[in-house]
Amino acid sequence: MTAHTQETLTSGAPFRLLIHGGAGAVQRDKLSAERELAYHLSMAQSLMAGHAILAAGGNSADAVIAAIAVMEDSPLFNAGRGAVFTHTGRIELDASIMDGATRMAGAVAGVTTTRNPIRAAHAVMIQGDHVLLIGAGADQFAAEQGLEIVDTSYFHTQHRWDQLQKAIAKNRLMLDHDNDAAPPPYDSDQKHGTVGAVALDCHGNLVAGTSTGGLTNKRFGRVGDSPIIGAGTYADNRSVAVSATGTGEMFIRTCAAFHIAEQVRLQRLPLLQAVDQTLAEIAAIGGEGGLIVLDAHGNHAMRFNTSAMYRGLITEDGVARIGIFPGAEEPMSTISTA
Ligand code: ASP
Repeated sequence: MTAHTQETLTSGAPFRLLIHGGAGAVQRDKLSAERELAYHLSMAQSLMAGHAILAAGGNSADAVIAAIAVMEDSPLFNAGRGAVFTHTGRIELDASIMDGATRMAGAVAGVTTTRNPIRAAHAVMIQGDHVLLIGAGADQFAAEQGLEIVDTSYFHTQHRWDQLQKAIAKNRLMLDHDNDAAPPPYDSDQKHGTVGAVALDCHGNLVAGTSTGGLTNKRFGRVGDSPIIGAGTYADNRSVAVSATGTGEMFIRTCAAFHIAEQVRLQRLPLLQAVDQTLAEIAAIGGEGGLIVLDAHGNHAMRFNTSAMYRGLITEDGVARIGIFPGAEEPMSTISTA
């Protein structure tokens, strides 16, 4: 596991933005320099988009949306364009956002035509009557709110299609060998390319957001933790903002994001301890993944129990710090572009 923690904020108009682009079984020697650079550039772009808003005195909700929308628009991540396919070859997207000042929240699940699900989740939050909209109703709501609607083909990428074919073939092979075996609920080779962001703005408000295509080969209208408030996303100014990535079922069963927040608020556990205890709970029931967490003092943690987690952070100095494998996040300027 890796962690990077920061000193408590002291002066000026402090702000923080942390992002993740998913955790999973990424092998260093299998990640080409070209692809690694593409991830770095995309995450830097995401951080800069959020930074521009926070540096201008903007709010953490706008920063989280801007940062996530960049990754939703990139084919690299499992969110928006580039999302994984369901068993039947569809793209069904989930997203959520929560405001730590008001504890208002919005989420969508199983949307198929909304270009940026995080914007739809935000619209649900602002509209205020409901927290979670699903399927065609959620897409219709997004259209009525004036959000961009696209053809389903917009989300398709060849590499995700190939991943689906591989997953189906792997399951078939397992079933051929053991007629009683049920297909595994998830594949431990999965790279959980879900995206998320947590931000603290200069007004002292925390916001968390998460967006995903779910798991490759998911079936029967499956919904994971990402649009579930308290599982994949949570924010409360009295404790922390959290965004998760990983095997969603286990994050739901442990109420992962809420668990961290309440350990910090009620038991006054240090942030890192709360995150690690929660990851241990997740691991104990067979789950894996990672979490980004930020408190209202600017303390933060980025922890994962997989071999890698795409992640980054930016503060007032405007330097995008990025990491993929265990170890401290490095300033973008020191990362070789050769
Ligand atoms: N947590 C997501 C889900 O279960 C997947 C991921 O993080 O990539 O839907």
